[in-house]
Amino acid sequence: MTETFTPPTRFAVPGRISVSNRAAGVWQNATITEIRRETPHAATFRLAVPDWQGHLPGQHLMLRLTAGDGYVAQRHYSIASAPDASGHVELTLDHVEGGEVSGWFHTVARPGDRLEVRGPLSGFFAWPGDRPALLIGAGSGVVPLMSMVRHHRARGLSVPLRLLVSARGPEELIYAREYGAETTPVFTRSAPYGVPVGRMAAAHVVPLLADQPPGGWEAYVCGSNGFAEHASRLLVAAGQPVERIRIERFG
Ligand SMILES: Cc1cc2nc3c(=O)[nH]c(=O)nc-3n(C[C@H](O)[C@H](O)[C@H](O)COP(=O)(O)OP(=O)(O)OC[C@H]3O[C@@H](n4cnc5c(N)ncnc54)[C@H](O)[C@@H]3O)c2cc1C
Repeated sequence: MTETFTPPTRFAVPGRISVSNRAAGVWQNATITEIRRETPHAATFRLAVPDWQGHLPGQHLMLRLTAGDGYVAQRHYSIASAPDASGHVELTLDHVEGGEVSGWFHTVARPGDRLEVRGPLSGFFAWPGDRPALLIGAGSGVVPLMSMVRHHRARGLSVPLRLLVSARGPEELIYAREYGAETTPVFTRSAPYGVPVGRMAAAHVVPLLADQPPGGWEAYVCGSNGFAEHASRLLVAAGQPVERIRIERFG
């Protein structure tokens, strides 16, 4: 990219771009239909993608913004919504300080704005709902894991699923209102009265692995590089086979 950083407002809302849609490798038109605030720094963007051919929980897409002068920015975003036939997908974006694309979404984007997406991508981090899943995420790393939780609920699956999610504090916990008995939150900076504050540790992971379902757990870890490294070390130390740890890094 030869351009220097420019403010997010540089992205004009692109006009309708005519693209065909035969495969995940093809750019498709998408329209923002709804914006929901999740935390002070994260919001969910619902996109209508009429030609979307479906995804598996855990997969992500490539998103493309095009400015009026032809300047293009592309980023990967995990899909937060469970697979369905609605022709919509939901993304949840953190507002990265000075971020070009997340800045545009958080300060400029409105329902009706158009962009392009390509996907779904990455079969490796996908969870079809066929095996016990131990999900560990931090910050916006919970996004693809939430797609798995939502899929589990929507389909009424009985296969065991557990989520361990780390956030700085309750106000930064994305999807806080949606969690149920499957979820254990870990707060690193502040917590409700009586709840311990601290980094995710063996004390959080070991009890989850103590109870092994038939066939064992498949672990899915998502977050920054540092978090992914930390969480996978905890898992291995607790006895999780390294070949059954799948990692998605946002960093
Ligand atoms: C597979 C995959 C899935 C992803 N899914 C999501 C998702 O669901 N939700 C989401 O919010 N993000 C997700 N990301 C991160 C996303 O692709 C972008 O990197 C992020 O939105 C920042 O882009 P930007 O254009 O706003 O910032 P940029 O303009 O690219 O960066 C601006 C500045 O912020 C720094 N920076 C960039 N990214 C981060 C970050 N994540 N944390 C802290 N500093 C950063 C850069 O080093 C730079 O200094 C995912 C990444 C990958 C690889």
